[in-house]
Amino acid sequence: MPPQLVNAVNLPVQNALNFPAAILQRPFFDPKADPAFNYGAIGSVIGHEISHSFDNNGALFDSTGALRNWWTPADFKRFQQAGDALAAQYDEYEALPGLHLNGKLTLGENIADVAGLAAAYDAYKHSLGGKEAQAIDGYSGDQRFFIAYAQAWATKMRDEQLRQRVLTDGHAPGQFRALTVRNLDPWYTAFDVKEGEKLYLAPDKRVKVW
Ligand SMILES: [Zn+2]
Repeated sequence: MPPQLVNAVNLPVQNALNFPAAILQRPFFDPKADPAFNYGAIGSVIGHEISHSFDNNGALFDSTGALRNWWTPADFKRFQQAGDALAAQYDEYEALPGLHLNGKLTLGENIADVAGLAAAYDAYKHSLGGKEAQAIDGYSGDQRFFIAYAQAWATKMRDEQLRQRVLTDGHAPGQFRALTVRNLDPWYTAFDVKEGEKLYLAPDKRVKVW
């Protein structure tokens, strides 16, 4: 990848994660921003890429990059159940009237989003060493974490482009990737999200990949 490309990739054969320089700036990373911002934005992207080493494709490669499936059948079954639930969740999203996302087409990426965001949140809490983050501009640390995640996926495109993406791209459009927060319990405490609200998901419908 050229350095000016905003992207990130996991290369299983090299057992490597690649982040070109262009993604290491706002809205993903800012060395001067507070940690909640960086964990919520680039942290979730890094978690997303790490997670690809532990998805249906990553399972095929061991820690040296050799093509050798190292998963137990029980782990794989549990992973597939979480995937089925997540595919059903994304199938419900309607990008344009009558045009729903394809939960199976985007499953690997949606799994990586859920797992990556959850891992980034855990890493953020760990970085605080048990202390509570100070409020900034009236927002708590957890609120800033989720706001940074959502803003990293701010998206604007024409309907035609949106339609093409929904039909062919293995990634959900950005505005739906932002909705990954619905699967994390801390999202509900951070913003006091209640049943009946748009970004509420019942506890038994929240998917925990790991
Ligand atoms: Zn990905």
